[in-house]
Amino acid sequence: MDAVTVKANAKINLYLDVTSKRKNGYHDLVTVMQSISLVDTLTVARQEEKGVLLDTGGVLPSDGSNLICRAAKAYFEQSGAPFGVSVKLKKQIPMQAGMGGGSADAAAMLRALNTLDGDRFTVDQLCAIGAEIGADVPFCVAGGTQLCQGIGERLTPVKNRLPGTLVVAVGGEGVSTPVAFAELDRLYNDFDPPQEKNSPRALLDAMENGDVDAAAPVFFNLFEEVVEPRRPAVGDIKRVMRENGAVAAMMSGSGPSVWGMFQTALDAENARAALLRAGYRAFICEMLV
Ligand code: C5P
Repeated sequence: MDAVTVKANAKINLYLDVTSKRKNGYHDLVTVMQSISLVDTLTVARQEEKGVLLDTGGVLPSDGSNLICRAAKAYFEQSGAPFGVSVKLKKQIPMQAGMGGGSADAAAMLRALNTLDGDRFTVDQLCAIGAEIGADVPFCVAGGTQLCQGIGERLTPVKNRLPGTLVVAVGGEGVSTPVAFAELDRLYNDFDPPQEKNSPRALLDAMENGDVDAAAPVFFNLFEEVVEPRRPAVGDIKRVMRENGAVAAMMSGSGPSVWGMFQTALDAENARAALLRAGYRAFICEMLV
């Protein structure tokens, strides 16, 4: 095979708690991540010349700092595969929004290279390569619905039978994830002592039972505490979603994107239209289980 086109699915967090801080500055998390149908697209073509030639259409840097290039470098280091690639990225996932766009692109790059390379590695091996690139990359390689622990790299598959359609919306400037973690550190004394007050159990049960009413009050994101007060768009998007029939609405990751869950496609479409009228970017999405 000489070329492959792969989808890089965005993620949302249905539950996100931070429990402790490690000496290296990373945090232990308990999070339920969900792949959604909003995607970037990567077209990856094999070339004789080694290295990576990346075309992002100018929407973000295409040098070695790009997670796609870092993923390729890690892949070639592990595999020693004797070829290079050119990559065209079509970006749709909002950036710095808490939807894992960069991690999704890195994961898609690993999957594309593995395909071009005759499926040299298993999914678990690709996850291990991904873990060196970023904490969310292993989830993006595996996809679906997963309970993620450790710094996000320890994955346990979860059954998600919740029905419904999502709307994901974003407004205002992007949020820097390290800055948002630093604000939580200030509020929670560097998580010393470690926090154990919350549990995802009730949400996992509700998801398995497909019980939206039971899930609605137990969706959780600790980052809302530090991001929402500074980002009026977050609360405003939630309000518009609720006014248009959302059964739940919550920030994803370190924000500022917000997802809303709707029981009917019509409610979701009405909410999206209201969000667009209010000046936000808004997308209808499905959860990929
Ligand atoms: O791993 P990744 O590069 O995606 O993480 C971005 C930043 O988020 C890290 O530099 C770190 O500051 C913070 N982070 C963290 N604990 C995690 C994941 C990310 O502190 N579990």
